[in-house]
Amino acid sequence: MPHPHRIPLAEADPAVFDIILREQERQEHNLELIASENIASLAVRQAMMSVLQDKYAEGYPGKRYYGGCEIVDEVENLAIDRVKQLYGSNFANVQPHSGAQANMAVYFAFLKPGDTLMAMNLAHGGHLTHGSPVNFTGQMYNVAAYGVDPESETINYDEMRKVAQASKPKIIVSGATAYSRTFDFAQIRKIADEVGALHMCDMAHYSGLIAAGEYPNPVPHCDVVTSTTHKSIRGPRGGMILWNKEELTKPINMSVFPGIQGGPLMHVIAGKAVCFGEALQPGFKTYQAQIKKNSHALAEAMIGEGFRIVSGGTDSHLMLVDLRPYGITGKVAQIALDEANITTNKNSIPNDPEKPFVTSGVRLGTPAVTTRGMRESEMASIASLIARCLKNPEDAANLEAVKREVVELTKRFPIHV
Ligand SMILES: *Cc1c(COP(=O)(O)O)cnc(C)c1O
Repeated sequence: MPHPHRIPLAEADPAVFDIILREQERQEHNLELIASENIASLAVRQAMMSVLQDKYAEGYPGKRYYGGCEIVDEVENLAIDRVKQLYGSNFANVQPHSGAQANMAVYFAFLKPGDTLMAMNLAHGGHLTHGSPVNFTGQMYNVAAYGVDPESETINYDEMRKVAQASKPKIIVSGATAYSRTFDFAQIRKIADEVGALHMCDMAHYSGLIAAGEYPNPVPHCDVVTSTTHKSIRGPRGGMILWNKEELTKPINMSVFPGIQGGPLMHVIAGKAVCFGEALQPGFKTYQAQIKKNSHALAEAMIGEGFRIVSGGTDSHLMLVDLRPYGITGKVAQIALDEANITTNKNSIPNDPEKPFVTSGVRLGTPAVTTRGMRESEMASIASLIARCLKNPEDAANLEAVKREVVELTKRFPIHV
């Protein structure tokens, strides 16, 4: 009899094992178009299931509060060295457990309750942690927002400057969760300097594209850059913080630990090191370039199917689709697409007449389908499958017919075999 600790999951806990198998099967036969999702490599996942998960390593490499940290120090240093090389930053902290934690650490380092935080209007693409009333940022800080021009649906920098001058923020946040165009980071740097604010970019969505030179790099124009590590960059779930000035090192590191976190997740940090290693390989550039080609192809094909794309197109891995030409809401669309194994999320569009729980749009992104190996011709097929669903979103037979074609398509691009 093996020691109970060495019994594989399938035997040790069939209930959990079965759930995992069914989720794997769902992922295999669904078209994953959620812009924030991706498919981590086997190597990344193996690092995360390693024995590093058992090690307590509060503190930083060389300065830990526990013994036995010499070896895990190496993996954290490796992750730090690789991510600095990837983005050209002088310093990095790879311990934040998530993107939200990375943002919280930066805010706690540089803001006091009641200070002003300026970020993108949530209804125009900003993230919850950029000042939503239901998030700690909205509750602790005075929030000023900039947004997009109603005509061009791209950021209005004149308005941004006016809002900054009127509200005198301590931090201006660039970056967003549902904005498909590039940010003019140099221009935002100028505005931040004019009002004496720090410039923080939250590049969570764009970090893979940026690592490959497919989207402007905010690092040279920012005091601090935060990110997730599991979206376009395709690593383990987690966060990170990058900066250039030595004097910011102590406040940022102290804010992550002991400020808001305890022991770092060393297995996840190992997964981050693997992910950054992958991103330094030439093949990663090809992958990120294909994400953008696919995103352009999908946007063009969606326009061809009669949808409107917010701002007329995209400079990134994602797009916002205005569903009003089809006379349906985001809520109805998301449910209908789910029935056909097409996974998306409803999303407000700028100046949306519908409530945030209903919306007039869906957000589509290409990182996950690109990881599977799909290219421009599959994007055209996907647009046509989406259009067929949304022309008759309540017709079960129609959705079932589309689903059969989706499953056939996914079978040609297997994930885990
Ligand atoms: C996803 C996202 C986050 C939050 O990341 P979590 O890991 O889910 O906490 C923060 N900021 C932006 C812009 C994001 O898109």
